[in-house]
Amino acid sequence: MSWNACQRWDDTTTRWNTWLHERCSHGDQTVQRWVQRTYPWNVHQLPTPLKKALWTIQDGHCYWCQRSVRFSEATLEHVIPFVSPVWDRMRPLEQLLSFRISHAACNQTYKTWRLADPRHATALDLWRLRHIRHLLRQDPFWACWIPDAIPLTPHSPSSPLKSLHLSL
Ligand SMILES: [Zn+2]
Repeated sequence: MSWNACQRWDDTTTRWNTWLHERCSHGDQTVQRWVQRTYPWNVHQLPTPLKKALWTIQDGHCYWCQRSVRFSEATLEHVIPFVSPVWDRMRPLEQLLSFRISHAACNQTYKTWRLADPRHATALDLWRLRHIRHLLRQDPFWACWIPDAIPLTPHSPSSPLKSLHLSL
């Protein structure tokens, strides 16, 4: 199975961003909190409505295998996971935009794949984050919700990403 499904990442990130943008611009305070909060390690603390929103924008399909998934069986997938060296460099909105829903088994297969090839996994994380930032830069609406401006601050010398020689 290939995890480098670029087009699917593009499509779902755009749909997710549009969904969030529309609700924030119409004053939905719940969604406004989602885009500004810091996401916890414990996925069980993530709100059910957030998972439901993703299930809706993915038309009830698993992000990885594209087959339908019942809401009760869907797991929240951290496509860019907490353990990625990229995670700590992401703003709350960027973290939010990296979530998807998937089958539990697909979620587990992805985790196993990442462990087998962590360097490739991190390179893909960077690619995905770059895509998110490219999208956000084209959406001036978010300047109201994000305290520090997009684009990003440069790498700090201690950045764990430095060794990858990849720039965001
Ligand atoms: Zn699946």
